[in-house]
Amino acid sequence: MPSLLLLAAACAPSPTPDDTACDPAPAVQIELPDPHRNLVVISIDTFRRDAMGRYGASGDPTPFLDALAARSLTLDDHASGASWTYPSMICALGGRCGEAMGVVPEAPEGGAFADMPADADLLPTWLRQAGFVQTRVTANRILAQYGFERDVDRVVAMPSEGGDAVVAAALAELPALQADGRRWSLHVHLMDTHAPYQPPAEWLGDVYALPPLPWDLDPGGDAWSQVADTYGDADDDLRAQIEEHFTARYAAAVRYQDAVVASLWDGLERAGALDDAVVVVLTDHGEQLWDHGLWGHNRSVHVEERAAVAMLWSPDVAPRAVAAPTTHHDLVPTLMPMLGLDAPEGVEGQSVAAVDPDAPRFALTWPTGSAPQQAVDWRCYTLTYGWQGAASLYRRDLDPTEAQDRWDGAPVVFDALIDLLDPEIARAASLVDAYVPAPPQR
Ligand SMILES: [Zn+2]
Repeated sequence: MPSLLLLAAACAPSPTPDDTACDPAPAVQIELPDPHRNLVVISIDTFRRDAMGRYGASGDPTPFLDALAARSLTLDDHASGASWTYPSMICALGGRCGEAMGVVPEAPEGGAFADMPADADLLPTWLRQAGFVQTRVTANRILAQYGFERDVDRVVAMPSEGGDAVVAAALAELPALQADGRRWSLHVHLMDTHAPYQPPAEWLGDVYALPPLPWDLDPGGDAWSQVADTYGDADDDLRAQIEEHFTARYAAAVRYQDAVVASLWDGLERAGALDDAVVVVLTDHGEQLWDHGLWGHNRSVHVEERAAVAMLWSPDVAPRAVAAPTTHHDLVPTLMPMLGLDAPEGVEGQSVAAVDPDAPRFALTWPTGSAPQQAVDWRCYTLTYGWQGAASLYRRDLDPTEAQDRWDGAPVVFDALIDLLDPEIARAASLVDAYVPAPPQR
């Protein structure tokens, strides 16, 4: 049976006077490199794509990631599919997102998340079937439980620990993997760009140079919630000061995170772990720094939260920048052939070797305490929709930060994008009891 994604692609609207400037990216043939034996997954939490120099950040904040992207198969128009770890990592590791498995993950207050369905297979299950021994070292507790740990032989959970410690722990796992004799996989999940943005002090010089806030944020914990509680009632000056500090802290965390990935790579290389391996580097979702009036993630499906980094490397990969829109559920179908394995049954993503640049791309997130939000990208347009009914239309080419709602200039496109999104809304609505989607309104 064709997937819903393919059905939706088949229903893509024909060009109209409103979208003549919005041709799809040309279809190109991409050749994947020869298969390799082992797999390294490096996932980075809460990392905005536009924090990378490659995507426009000034001041050379990510020299290692930029250089790696230049020698990888790099997906330059990639999106995560959701705005927080649990659903976005399902998409990344599952080849399909939660709604294709019968679940829309919710983030209730207090963080007591539900387990994934028992039959919701992810990459580790398929790698186990292929004979891999697998280790995951994760600074995010989510990836150590709720079903993410299934079929991973060894999970080292280091909740909220800094990148240097995580890298040391990950590299310490290598000798056992390499001596095992089976094919192996190592998944390292880093957390340094997640609040409280607390890299080692030597990375925080720009923050310490600012006029100090009324709170000391360095210890983390309570001080952060005090800021969050205060922001809404703060005067304009204090708000600006808070925003300046958080933005500077985030930038410092990005620079540190780049150095951490560089040190991980160096350690892997020295150990010979990259000699016959495929490496995928991805971010789980971004972070909003008041771009649309909010701070944090799982707040919206706007681009600063949904855009993601994804690059695939192997020793003989031909460097390639992929301009077509891709999303996290395309990673498994791309990765498996690079390991000489067939893509599993039931995935909804496509290998980037055969990506359809005219296919719509979807995102879904369920913010804590409010109704789900969804988005569809098609050609140069994005439509965002919250289940309370508000919908907005953006031009991805002219307005990459989604600053200007353009629905009134393109009513035909608006309706066409609603038509594309409708089946996705219906699918999610069948899985969420707490809210009912209202009709989208311009
Ligand atoms: Zn995350």
